[in-house]
Amino acid sequence: MTQIPMDDLRQEFGSRLQENICMANYTTARVGGNAAGLVSIHTVEDLADAAKILWDLSVPFIVLGSGSNILVGDKGLDKIVLHNRAHNLKIDTKSDTPQVFAESGAILGTVARQSALRGLTGLEWAAPVPGTVGGAVYGNAGAHGSDMHESLKMAKILHKTRGIEEWPVEKLAYQYRSSVLKREKMPVVILTAVFNALKSTREDAWEKISVNQAYRKGTQPPGASMGSMFKNPVGDYAGRLIEASGLKGRRSGKAMISPIHANFIINLGGASAQDIWTLMKTAQDLVSEKFGILLEPEIELIGDFD
Ligand SMILES: Cc1cc2nc3c(=O)[nH]c(=O)nc-3n(C[C@H](O)[C@H](O)[C@H](O)COP(=O)(O)OP(=O)(O)OC[C@H]3O[C@@H](n4cnc5c(N)ncnc54)[C@H](O)[C@@H]3O)c2cc1C
Repeated sequence: MTQIPMDDLRQEFGSRLQENICMANYTTARVGGNAAGLVSIHTVEDLADAAKILWDLSVPFIVLGSGSNILVGDKGLDKIVLHNRAHNLKIDTKSDTPQVFAESGAILGTVARQSALRGLTGLEWAAPVPGTVGGAVYGNAGAHGSDMHESLKMAKILHKTRGIEEWPVEKLAYQYRSSVLKREKMPVVILTAVFNALKSTREDAWEKISVNQAYRKGTQPPGASMGSMFKNPVGDYAGRLIEASGLKGRRSGKAMISPIHANFIINLGGASAQDIWTLMKTAQDLVSEKFGILLEPEIELIGDFD
């Protein structure tokens, strides 16, 4: 168990440090125990400074975007959470190669919609994806046949020992819902991102967004969740395999495998992280037994799980 030097942190962050914060209020699945502390971040300079302070003090921390891809354990986190709300956005439509710049706490869907409103095409896939730019860059978010690998030009990244670096997309070594940052748990903070976009018309881009949004509305369940729990195995779909294992509607406590889309687990109200984890293990076990395929989580488990 890590001992967090709370007195030092109180001195560094003053009233900005909130202590014993319930993570259920900061995650889209609405589950998770208490974090030792949380600091709200409003600019990228602030994000970099806070990370440097925590590294210097050897205090473990996570950067939190919208909490839409993490399952935080019920016992909470012996960590500080940097809640990233640095959300500036600059869209240049004047030059021949238009560019979309966003701070890492910007909401990805907003970046996509604002680009479309300015007549740029290329980011329409991202409009219905919840979460921040930072979370999307970290995990190679994707949907509707595209992903960050296609859309990202470069990211500005603060590395614990190397300082601020500009990473072209190739350096992130993207794989399906994964980056080198995620695979190697690198000590980094994503500060900003620049996306590729092409000139089009507002009508064209907006039409593509509407199609994506309508498709999603028709196929994905409402309610508190983390979206898809498992990665699709090569040539198949995790949802199809879980459904074929007879698990649609299966409950554990207050969590349920969605009867609409079996790769979603819904918090029916008051679910624990353990309820969700139990359903995930059940899905893994039954799918492995029936199909010989081990489903790999798409979401990230943070904290302790049995
Ligand atoms: C209803 C629903 C639908 C979804 N649909 C999709 C979909 O279609 N496609 C898809 O890919 N995902 C989907 N997701 C999952 C999720 O939206 C994405 O993975 C999203 O990119 C996560 O962003 P976030 O800001 O919520 O990240 P968080 O969950 O807050 O964080 C995820 C990880 O990224 C790290 N991180 C976040 N910001 C930074 C930063 N600035 N620097 C360093 N590390 C950082 C965190 O520390 C953590 O390890 C869906 C989720 C929900 C709830």
